[in-house]
Amino acid sequence: MPKALIIGGGVAGPATALFLQRAGWEVEIFEAHSAPDPFGGLFLNVATNGLAVLDQLGLRERLVSDGHLCPRMVMVSGRGRPLGVVPNGPAADPARGSVVVRRSWLHEVLHDAVVAAGICHRFGARLLRIEERSDRVVAHFADGSTASGDVLVGADGVGSVVRTAIDPDAPAPASSGLISVGGFSRVPGLEPTPGEQYMVFGAKSFFGYLVRDDGTVYWFANVTDRNASRDDIRAVSDDEWLRRLRTLHADDPHPVPQILEHVEGEIGAYPLADLTHVPHWHRGRLVAVGDAVHATSPSAGQGASLALEDAISLARHLRDDVDHEQAFAGYEHDRRPRAEEVVAYARAVNRNKRVTKSKLGIAMRDAMLPLFLRSAASDTRNDHLYNHVIRW
Ligand SMILES: Cc1cc2nc3c(=O)[nH]c(=O)nc-3n(C[C@H](O)[C@H](O)[C@H](O)COP(=O)(O)OP(=O)(O)OC[C@H]3O[C@@H](n4cnc5c(N)ncnc54)[C@H](O)[C@@H]3O)c2cc1C
Repeated sequence: MPKALIIGGGVAGPATALFLQRAGWEVEIFEAHSAPDPFGGLFLNVATNGLAVLDQLGLRERLVSDGHLCPRMVMVSGRGRPLGVVPNGPAADPARGSVVVRRSWLHEVLHDAVVAAGICHRFGARLLRIEERSDRVVAHFADGSTASGDVLVGADGVGSVVRTAIDPDAPAPASSGLISVGGFSRVPGLEPTPGEQYMVFGAKSFFGYLVRDDGTVYWFANVTDRNASRDDIRAVSDDEWLRRLRTLHADDPHPVPQILEHVEGEIGAYPLADLTHVPHWHRGRLVAVGDAVHATSPSAGQGASLALEDAISLARHLRDDVDHEQAFAGYEHDRRPRAEEVVAYARAVNRNKRVTKSKLGIAMRDAMLPLFLRSAASDTRNDHLYNHVIRW
C-alpha cells in the first residue's frame, strides 16, 4: 500500500488524509501544534462549495449543526444606511448558502473523523526539512523523529516549509494592508440575525458581525494598516485592541459600538495576507495543497473551501492517474485557474475595505455602492464559485 506523509493538521491536511485513505493509501498527519487549539482563528465562512466536499466525507450535517447558516450578507454604510444585500451562496438558491462556524469546530469535526478512520494524527511534529531519495521521501521533525513515505503532501498553511522545499524561490505571501481583529460578544437585548451577516463600511474601519440564536455575537474588524508586521500585531494586548477599536468605531451605527463594549473572552488579531501565482505546486515526490500554494484573504470567504476542494482533487488524481507525477500535474492543472480567480476576487473586495479615502471619497463610495449593489441580491456572477462540485 503506498504511503503519504501529510504535513499540517489544519483544514486541507485532514481532508486530504480522509480522501486518500478511501483511495487505498496509508496516510499519517503531522501537525506542529502540540494540541488542537480550541480558540485559534475565531470563525470562518464555509462556502457552499466547501460544504459539498464535506458532504462527500459525511461531515456536512455535523459541521452545520453548530453553525450560523448565512446565505445573505447585508451591507450597511458608516451612517447606518442600507447599501444592499449580497448573496453568500448561489443567488437563486439561499437554502444552499454558506455557513459561518467557529474555526475550532471545523477542526474538531475533521479531527474526529480522522481519529474514527484510524488515521494516525501526530501533534507536536514540526517539519524541519525533507530528504528526497530516489524511491521515497523522508521527513525530519524538530523533535528529532523522522517518517518516510512514497509522497509528501504539504498542507502546512501560508508559511509553508514544503512550498520552499519544492521551490526555494517560491514567492512569499503579500500583505493586503489590512489587519483582521475579531472575537465574541453578548449584547443584552440584541436580536439574532438568522440567515444574515452584517458588513458595515465604517468611516475609519470595516466591521462585520452576526448574532446567533443564543445571543452570541461573532464580530471582526478589518483595520487599515499597511506597515504592521506579525510581531507588531502580536505585541498589542487585548485591552489595547479594544481601546483602538472603540475609538475607530465610536461613530458607527448601532450595534457596532455596543458589540465592542460587551466583548467576552480573548481577541484574535491577524495580518491579512494572500499568496498567488506560485510557479511550482509540486516537484518529484512533493506536492502542496491549500494555503501553502494559494492563500486568499478572508474577503472571499473561500480559503477553507478551496483547501477542501484541493484535498478531494489531489486524492482523486492519486486514485486514478498512473503515477504520482501525473497525478500532481493533473491536480495543479485542475486547481490553479480557480484558486487564482478567487485570490483576485478577494483582492478586489479588499480595495473597498481599506480606508484611505477622504470624507469626500467615503461619501462617494457610499453613494456608488447602493447603485452597484442594487441588483447584487439576484446577481448570479459568483454562482460558479459556489456551484463548483468535485465528485469523488
Ligand atoms: C483572520 C482569518 C479569517 C479567515 N476567514 C476565512 C473565512 O471566512 N472563510 C474561509 O474559507 N477562509 C478564511 N480564512 C482562511 C482559512 O483559514 C484558510 O484558507 C484555511 O485554513 C486553509 O487551510 P490549510 O489547511 O491550507 O491551512 P491551515 O488551516 O493554516 O493549516 C495549516 C496547518 O499546518 C500546520 N503547520 C505549519 N507549519 C508546519 C510544519 N512545519 N510542520 C507541521 N505542521 C505545520 C499549522 O500549525 C496548521 O495547523 C481566514 C484566515 C484568517 C487568517
